[in-house]
Amino acid sequence: MAKRAFLMGVLSVIGCFGQNNPTFYPTAAHVNLYFPHLADGGPVFGQWQSSVEFVNPSPTMTAHVQLSLFGDQGLPLSLDFGSGSFAVHPFSIPPSGRITLRSTLASGTIVEGQAVANSDIPIQGTILFRNIVNGKLGVELSAPPTLPTSRYLSLATRDLGVALANVSGVTKSFVVTAVDSSGTAVATTLITLAGFGHHAFNLGQELPDLPADFSGSIVITPQVPGDQVLAWTVNVERNLISTLPIGQLEWPISHPDRIQLVFQRLLAAASSLSGINLNLQPPPKLVTPSDVAAASASVNSNQNVQINLALSELVSDSPSELAFLVAHELAHIAQTRTGMNTILLPNEATNKEADADLIAMILVLQAGFDPYGAPGAIGKLSMANGSSGLVSSNFDNLPDPTPAFSAARMNSMLGVITSACTYVTAGYCAADKAAIHPHFPGSAPL
Ligand SMILES: [Zn+2]
Repeated sequence: MAKRAFLMGVLSVIGCFGQNNPTFYPTAAHVNLYFPHLADGGPVFGQWQSSVEFVNPSPTMTAHVQLSLFGDQGLPLSLDFGSGSFAVHPFSIPPSGRITLRSTLASGTIVEGQAVANSDIPIQGTILFRNIVNGKLGVELSAPPTLPTSRYLSLATRDLGVALANVSGVTKSFVVTAVDSSGTAVATTLITLAGFGHHAFNLGQELPDLPADFSGSIVITPQVPGDQVLAWTVNVERNLISTLPIGQLEWPISHPDRIQLVFQRLLAAASSLSGINLNLQPPPKLVTPSDVAAASASVNSNQNVQINLALSELVSDSPSELAFLVAHELAHIAQTRTGMNTILLPNEATNKEADADLIAMILVLQAGFDPYGAPGAIGKLSMANGSSGLVSSNFDNLPDPTPAFSAARMNSMLGVITSACTYVTAGYCAADKAAIHPHFPGSAPL
């Protein structure tokens, strides 16, 4: 009995500690996961089977996911993963759970396309390709999900396997250039894909003039600068297939995907807060207009959160800076929905902005971003609303009693961090500080 009580005590301490841990995600965890290639079926002497695998890294939240499949021409592609043939597969993954969707070899010819998974919290994914020859397992290789990019690089031979996919809904063309081992471009071709279309090929099929012993690299870019390409390559040599590193650019990154990731992480953080109901369910709609040059964010009459792509580009090297700006807009949604001018600062009922900053800081902390992204974002906005004229002084189009990006607001951020630490679970900021700022002075709140 005493032993059981002791055990319960240990378990409750562990449970408590778990809640105190900041939510950090694996690099590969995303809310938009693009799989540039999938294949199923074929004749018995050469079948392909695809398994799409997901793990939910959150110990507390269920992931709600939708997997959409598109064929070579960009049309919805119906595949059977064991529970019927559909082009869209909705499913959920329990906290810390895993799910496998394995295609069922339903077609006598090889069916190919691309897949996109959209989740409401970050999840980790992988696709496995299994080659089956007369019922015997041949080879299996895996590919991580990827993100659209403005340039894809891969080492290449003439037999290189390439999957190319169009992530936009309209027809796009892509330039494939082969570069030899001394760095000289030796062949190039243009490949046009329908909206959401897909094309898988061996390099020599599209570049027939490449010598048989070609050894170099390929670069794939969208024909129109600013567009994005989705690609994946596999090494093929003497009929052996092996995986290659993902060749998308590290930076610049796909802003719509990054904004979506930040937005969903913050919403997940909002629903995991204890003691503060921000009324953010059902979630507001996120809109990311690309035709607005000014860097601004706003909450419109439909209670949409609008994050202009130019704003994301202004803070493009820092997800934590973007997180503070998106969280600030979510805080204004919360103020509107709760009918309170200020939710956490009742004695400062006219200062919606200070209240939104504090709520944003709590969300940023809870979602595992760096809270020092806040002064970074305000500093960049301060620069951008000066003589450069990139952004107006009330960047979120709300009445603002104070100069929006004053030095005073920036200097107040350390106090906002200190205050935010009193709203999250006890011990959370200490754990966060130990993880991300272990060399900060002891006096720093985080
Ligand atoms: Zn505001």
